[in-house]
Amino acid sequence: MQWILLGPPGSGKGTQAKKLAAAHNVAHLSTGDVLRNEIAKDSDLGKDAKAYMERGDLVPDELILKMIHEHLPSESDGNGFLLDGFPRTEKQAQALDEMLKNDGRAIDRAVLVDVSDDEIKKRLEGRAKAEGRTDDTSDVIEQRLNVYRQQTVPVANHYERQGLLTKVNGEQSIDDVYNDLEKLLTA
Ligand code: AMP
Repeated sequence: MQWILLGPPGSGKGTQAKKLAAAHNVAHLSTGDVLRNEIAKDSDLGKDAKAYMERGDLVPDELILKMIHEHLPSESDGNGFLLDGFPRTEKQAQALDEMLKNDGRAIDRAVLVDVSDDEIKKRLEGRAKAEGRTDDTSDVIEQRLNVYRQQTVPVANHYERQGLLTKVNGEQSIDDVYNDLEKLLTA
């Protein structure tokens, strides 16, 4: 299993990635979690990334790619990997393809967890209250959705061109989305 989970912020891809990774013993890499951890540690990367994240912008590709070189699961880590929140730009997708190719590896599926804008706004405003994430306020939500449309939708197109993209309906219950993902594993 060498999967990428794609989807707008609040699509639930992080929740699904955790469930899938635990059930199948695959490495789960969430670049958002790594960055939040770096901010908590007040590391150089955390200091550089913080302002971008608070505005709802993407952290520059150079910083992300450097981080990925350190964190990309290796072949010996479990039964594969799930990438959650990476790649988020066409440039990151090309760099990932190249990095895997150099190791004789490749992505075998990119799953887009599809959720409408209206539903995303409702969910993120709810999450802001529940978790106090500073990037879930309404201006920042709007910016994160713009960034998603402009920079991350091309990533879905990148994998569609390679015949690797599958969409699942992310507006179902957590369990129903999960069942759809499980079905893809046996498809
Ligand atoms: P997430 O938890 O995946 O929604 O990520 C939270 C924030 O971290 C994003 O809004 C970006 O600012 C930053 N981030 C996470 N992953 C990436 C990435 N692959 N490229 C650039 N920025 C990222």
